[in-house]
Amino acid sequence: MDYQSFFRNQLAELKQEGNYRVFIDLQRKRGNFPAAVRTHKKGQDDVTIWCSNDYLGMGQNPDVVAAMHAAVDRCGAGAGGTRNISGTTHDHVLLEEELADLHDKEAALVFTSGYVSNWAALGTLASKIPGCIVFSDSLNHASMIEGIRHSRADKVIWKHNDLEDLEHKLASADPARPKLIAFESVYSMDGDIAPIAEICDLADKYGAMTYLDEVHAVGLYGPRGGGIAEREGLMDRLTVIEGTLGKAFGVVGGYIAASTELCDFVRSFASGFIFTTALPPAIAAAATASIRHLKRSNTEREAHQAIVAKVRKRLDTLGIPHVPNPSHIIPVIVGNPAKCKFLSDTLLDDFGIYIQPINYPTVPKGTERLRITPSPVHTSGDVDRLIVALHSLWNQCQLARQPMAAE
Ligand code: PMP
Repeated sequence: MDYQSFFRNQLAELKQEGNYRVFIDLQRKRGNFPAAVRTHKKGQDDVTIWCSNDYLGMGQNPDVVAAMHAAVDRCGAGAGGTRNISGTTHDHVLLEEELADLHDKEAALVFTSGYVSNWAALGTLASKIPGCIVFSDSLNHASMIEGIRHSRADKVIWKHNDLEDLEHKLASADPARPKLIAFESVYSMDGDIAPIAEICDLADKYGAMTYLDEVHAVGLYGPRGGGIAEREGLMDRLTVIEGTLGKAFGVVGGYIAASTELCDFVRSFASGFIFTTALPPAIAAAATASIRHLKRSNTEREAHQAIVAKVRKRLDTLGIPHVPNPSHIIPVIVGNPAKCKFLSDTLLDDFGIYIQPINYPTVPKGTERLRITPSPVHTSGDVDRLIVALHSLWNQCQLARQPMAAE
């Protein structure tokens, strides 16, 4: 086989379909998020990032950066091994204690990313519990889908956030078999929120465990940043809460929080936990500082909600269509892949505004979008510039508007 032409042809096909991913080369500036410098063929530009998952700007928070610096000075760069063989540092232990406390669970287990935590924890639970059936929401993240697939357990997909469909499917399954319901709280592309209490009711009724991905909610919701389940007083009803340290907490890493026995079980059987080098201690220390800060401070969460509301209102006054969800994610629907890409390119090149286009297969065809994620560190001037740019490009692309709301 001519391997190189195989790779070339596959990539050419992706380009043809409009699905080839182009990365923007950014340099973040210390203490200056969401400003960044973009390097490209013709040189460098200043840009404002409007699509980051560092939702609160915690990646630049002075306490977090200082904790990382101090840990590097104290411990050096790497962890030195897998968690099992010399890589469990005191910083990892403290982080896991902090996470267990955040979710009011007995224990927590840290992985190298949120992706790995879903893949490894779901894969282990579903494969090691004999006869387990996994009930998976149809819009679950790729990491959950891959973990469930890897387990080879029986999988039943229920319609997104549809309690009737979930109940119908639970009721149709063998009552004697173990069951696991896997779902998310805030869904990342539409920003809608799962009916967690009702799903827990169904889990109780049919004897199922619950596995909730709070990746887009931890740090952002709940009085201490414990996520939607904390906000709704439901943490004790969930068997497993999974989260990331890479989005609102601004660092990197993933975790599950659950009972002592469940965490010990995953720790003992999950290859994605056992056979990989532990996160550097400085990462663990920075994540701990971020969690501690957001447990104590509501300032970032309140400012976040305020700027999200402000951007939505400004879009409404221009009639620019966006999904009316109850979260911080603002999907501006363009509905055409070429126009979506054009908008994103022109925002970047002509206005210094970076919003990555989201096209099929990440979202269904006809719902191509710009996924805007405002943060408390965007200024009023940043919002004004975003709105002026979108207004002008919406006209240029002759995109439809909704009836405009009064200012
Ligand atoms: N779950 C969901 C719902 C996600 O959107 C993502 C990442 N986008 C992940 C898990 C993976 O998290 P991480 O980025 O920490 O690997």
